[in-house]
Amino acid sequence: MTKLYWTDTQAARLKMLGLDPATAAEGLDTPARRNQAFQAIEKKQVNALKSELADRLTCCRPIRAVQLSQDLDEMLRQQGFAKVSTPTITTRKALEKMGIHDTHPLNEQIFWINHTQCLRPMLAPGLYSLMQDFARLDFRPVRFYEIGSCFRRESDGASHSSEFTMLNLVEMGTPEADRMQRLRNLADRVARTARVTGTRFEKESSAVYGTTLDLVAHPSGLELGSGAVGPHPLDTAWGITDTWVGMGFGMERLLMESVNDDAMGRWAKSLSYLDGIPLRI
Ligand code: ATP
Ligand code: MG
Repeated sequence: MTKLYWTDTQAARLKMLGLDPATAAEGLDTPARRNQAFQAIEKKQVNALKSELADRLTCCRPIRAVQLSQDLDEMLRQQGFAKVSTPTITTRKALEKMGIHDTHPLNEQIFWINHTQCLRPMLAPGLYSLMQDFARLDFRPVRFYEIGSCFRRESDGASHSSEFTMLNLVEMGTPEADRMQRLRNLADRVARTARVTGTRFEKESSAVYGTTLDLVAHPSGLELGSGAVGPHPLDTAWGITDTWVGMGFGMERLLMESVNDDAMGRWAKSLSYLDGIPLRI
């Protein structure tokens, strides 16, 4: 008996509904039986997804991205961090102070609005500016963080989106000898709060920071966050002399990893998915 598989259209629909089209049901030996099986599977899955969606919209179940943000707010508040919010639009001047000049590799990824303004590719320019002002305060450590949208022209889709959400935390005045340990400790806390199990640290070379300490998902190898410590060569442009530790995490990547997904699409800002649930159902 020859086994029939789903048509390409059926396979695409099953995949879109979150099912594995490779699992061919038994007994699909005629197109009519296969089509009948497809309709039954599709109907069952659509009903299940509608019910999941209703749970989110009637507040029975919180949306994961919202919950993650709240959990991180709570964890960071307990660690003494204040939440800040800086402008989404940044300037050519601020990027230049980050070392991103016309010929810099990241320059290709910037969404320019006009000659002097662009959508921020990272939170660091805004946070550096705050560091400069907070440096005038007479207490240490000064701890703050932002969770906000960043924009980069990206070509690789599985773990990159042109609009994504970054969590960036900064601690100023960390004793010099404790900086690396503190960075690891904060990264572990973020991973634990996001319910990401299995991570490792890797030293990476970065176009902006030189070298970063990255939090990487294990075993997938996906970069979840990149950290740096100061004093750092970039500090001079911002007039900063304090010690500091800072780390930026991709919120969508944390979400994706926490549910063991291998693509970020369902967790990025989207009109096609809500909390990973496809909306075209
Ligand atoms: P990658 O090498 O994976 O492109 P990156 O090193 O360029 O990332 P960073 O500048 O270190 O990224 O940004 C901090 C974090 O923001 C990354 O560790 C990642 O989790 C997240 N991130 C960066 N770019 C994107 C993107 N385009 N889409 C989703 N998340 C991103
Ligand atoms: Mg990085």
